Amino acid sequence: MKRLAPLFATLLLLPAQAHAWSHKGHAAIADLATANLSPAAQTQVQALLKDDLNVSDQPSGRTTLAAVSSWADEIRDVAPKGAYKGWHTRSNPVCSEGLGSCKRGECVDQKIIEYTAILKDRNQPHRARNEALKWVVHLIGDLHMPLHSGSNKDGAGQKLEVTLTNLKTGKNPTLHTVWDRELAVLALKQGALAAKLDKHETLTDGAITQWMQETSALARKHVYDPLPGFVCGKQIVGVVELDNAYQQQAVPVIRVQMTKAGLRLAQWLNQALQ
Ligand SMILES: [Zn+2]
Repeated sequence: MKRLAPLFATLLLLPAQAHAWSHKGHAAIADLATANLSPAAQTQVQALLKDDLNVSDQPSGRTTLAAVSSWADEIRDVAPKGAYKGWHTRSNPVCSEGLGSCKRGECVDQKIIEYTAILKDRNQPHRARNEALKWVVHLIGDLHMPLHSGSNKDGAGQKLEVTLTNLKTGKNPTLHTVWDRELAVLALKQGALAAKLDKHETLTDGAITQWMQETSALARKHVYDPLPGFVCGKQIVGVVELDNAYQQQAVPVIRVQMTKAGLRLAQWLNQALQ
């Protein structure tokens, strides 16, 4: 798939986009995955990144999964407004078992499956596989962010303003933004992610759906249920304060999700790049 030409003139005009896990979070997930890659996958990753390009199609000099892990956000930020809309998320309702809509396959789980097929196929052009790798690394991280896999009719927390007890944030951020940014930073302050991959079963595309549904259930339990005023299927009105108890219960959830994302990414790449 040809990606859209960057339009730098639009950069300053665009509203701030949600960046799941922020750059640091994506890099931490990618580093954990790298530490768990098989030698064969490691060799292919190096080959696929050796002449990597940045958003302006210039040599990026980036040679690690961590360094390219936010490229998918970067190209969106310089693309025309609305480009890649929906690719990083799926609004699965947190109060039901059903999946959220995914028009034209433009949602996080279907994009992972689509780009994994390109990554696996050695007959694909080098550049297509290079970009597919960057998509997969980023989107497996995104999928594990609770509000990228679950929503309560509030635009996955983008329509709810919050404040954080004892944390300065400037203008009231949204619930979605603080899970991407402030709460993720708190979680990463506890040190690097460390875990060893011990699962070697074969994964099918169904695993992606399963991971997403598990993440949506976590969004219900740890993002929405502890919110004062939460009601299934109803948007909360007004600004909500996230107190210390809310923040403290979020931190271990984020660390577990990032760790799962890193190990699952390694397992997924080890299988795709045998
Ligand atoms: Zn993203």
